[in-house]
Amino acid sequence: MIRTALVTGGNRGIGLEVCRLLARRGLHVVLASRDGAAGEVAAAGLGAAAGVVRAEALDVVSDASVEALAKRLRADRIRVDVLVNNAGIYPSAALLEPGGDEVLREALEVNLLGAVRTCRAFVPPMVRAGYGRVVNVSSGYGSFGEGLEGPASYSISKAALNALTVKLAQEVAGAPDVKVNAVCPGWVRTRMGGRGAPVSPEEAAESIVRLATLPADGPSGHFFRREHEIPW
Ligand code: NAP
Repeated sequence: MIRTALVTGGNRGIGLEVCRLLARRGLHVVLASRDGAAGEVAAAGLGAAAGVVRAEALDVVSDASVEALAKRLRADRIRVDVLVNNAGIYPSAALLEPGGDEVLREALEVNLLGAVRTCRAFVPPMVRAGYGRVVNVSSGYGSFGEGLEGPASYSISKAALNALTVKLAQEVAGAPDVKVNAVCPGWVRTRMGGRGAPVSPEEAAESIVRLATLPADGPSGHFFRREHEIPW
């Protein structure tokens, strides 16, 4: 059976590589991007993998945008089996700087509530179907166990995304074969991570794809960096 994966923020960086790898593995991929035109260009650039990639507009801060995508996919009888919540922003302002509230609100809107919106739209059908994989692309900066380092708003939003991962995993625990995990991709060479980062987007994508394609006896409700479990 061919599974369908939805990847948010799929037009560049880690998300684009996740789309490429999932497509190479034979999944159908919905490459979702805030700017629909940028998504079309990115999908076309995937070369041989592009045949199984469908670009769709999705702004994760908008309920209407998430609902509209769910409706378009339903209309084409496409059920999302794998959801990769990858879209993210990295605000660097300190908490007590002027405007700090607005920065925190924006970080939570994208990094936490963006994932809540997509989960609300796409996880219930997974539960009904008895199969689903949700991967929340988090960060070690959201780990209490690793000291909650990094800029405040980013760190708080990723810690909250981690909490969402645990709560959603608990909520779907009764459903057969629906798994929810979080992953820190490491420090990755993207627009967010910068040119000096040691991890390539391809390597980062591998750790996400591993969780997106876990077997039935795989973990749920856990946090990983690459294949190693890390503390919340
Ligand atoms: P990136 O190159 O900056 O890409 C971020 C992606 O998120 C872009 O596609 C961007 O779309 C999208 N996005 C932002 N706001 C959005 C919204 N409202 N709706 C839909 N898409 C939105 O970053 P990246 O390094 O690939 O990061 C991907 C994920 O990995 C993020 O969640 C990030 O926090 C996490 N992460 C990255 C690193 C790292 O070192 N790079 C480390 C730890 C965790 P636009 O092109 O439209 O802006």
